[in-house]
Amino acid sequence: MTPITSKLPQVGTTIFTTMSALATEVGAINLSQGFPDYDSSPQLIELINKAMKDGHNQYAPMAGVMALREEIAHKVEKLHGGKYDPDTEITITAGGTQAIFTAISAVINPNDEVIIFEPAFDCYAPAIKLMGGIVKSLELEPPDYRIPWNMVRKLVNNRTRLIILNSPHNPTATILHKEDIEELSAIVKNQDILILSDEVYEHLIYDGETHHSMARYPELQQRSFIVASFGKLFHATGWKVGYCLAPAYLMQEFRKVHQFLVFSVNSSMQYAMAEYLKNERVYLDLPEFFEQKRNYFRSGIKQTKFELLPCYGSYFQFVSYNKLTDESDTDFTLRLTKEAGVACIPTSVFYTKATDHHILRFCFAKKQETLDEAVNRLIGFKP
Ligand code: GLN
Repeated sequence: MTPITSKLPQVGTTIFTTMSALATEVGAINLSQGFPDYDSSPQLIELINKAMKDGHNQYAPMAGVMALREEIAHKVEKLHGGKYDPDTEITITAGGTQAIFTAISAVINPNDEVIIFEPAFDCYAPAIKLMGGIVKSLELEPPDYRIPWNMVRKLVNNRTRLIILNSPHNPTATILHKEDIEELSAIVKNQDILILSDEVYEHLIYDGETHHSMARYPELQQRSFIVASFGKLFHATGWKVGYCLAPAYLMQEFRKVHQFLVFSVNSSMQYAMAEYLKNERVYLDLPEFFEQKRNYFRSGIKQTKFELLPCYGSYFQFVSYNKLTDESDTDFTLRLTKEAGVACIPTSVFYTKATDHHILRFCFAKKQETLDEAVNRLIGFKP
């Protein structure tokens, strides 16, 4: 057999899988991959049990259980004003990553250009490349990582098909502001540019800030795929259920891919989530819940030699180790995991050019005692 030609020669196993495996292997506290170490709601778990006992164990409709799509339409309209028809404009997916891949594969043709901002979540670029698209990445600068719209304007041309946004942003923990929306709207106006808005951390936004969903702005909404995640909403990343919102002309193409990629998502969970989502406290209480964790973790880090960067949203905290050592972030992460017993993510992995600002990403969606122990280990660590 002739060896196969890799379609993604530069890609290895994701950093999240790699670091979680290493954390387990060496017994480190795992603040690397983003997931909570506490349980989802017992009430929701009961509802899932009940849905199974009630016989919701066969295929859900391809686009998702209607009761759940209706709850989502209701929630989005209430929070952002944007209307979505549950029948034609909402699809339940097997998590955010599948929704992102599906959206990209539905609209990107060979040589289409896609603008992404780095550091970027690691699934965007491979999906674009698999479709033959061209990744046009722009680097954001610490500490605030604001989008340089003047440079975006220079990058846009008649091959630009898609701009990928992510707010609250993974990994930088920054958010889009009103001015960003104004700049974006001016750039896409009268252009054939679509938007993929990764909003999986929509409810993890702090200090009373507003989440600028594309569903708030009709001009943007009509050209956007919005991706959301129940893993973040219900503290259950392992269930892998999320959804995509898009106007019907885009959702029609999305579903053509979705039906052959996953067909449909597990049914009992969808019935349970539809029921559970009727209680709006489930999502309205999330900012405060995570803001406390953010504040707690930040006050812990202040006792160490690491330096905090701002955190406006998501459950990630950027921390600089510039005052400790000039090792590369990948080397330092390995050492911190093995020697201090705290795993994190080196942020150079989120750049095409492996840009290394000596910044690490920690996940603070953890029990207080986990955060205490991690901070103690960081205080005790002598580089
Ligand atoms: N979103 C999570 C993170 O950034 C991980 C998701 C994954 O492992 N695919 O840590």
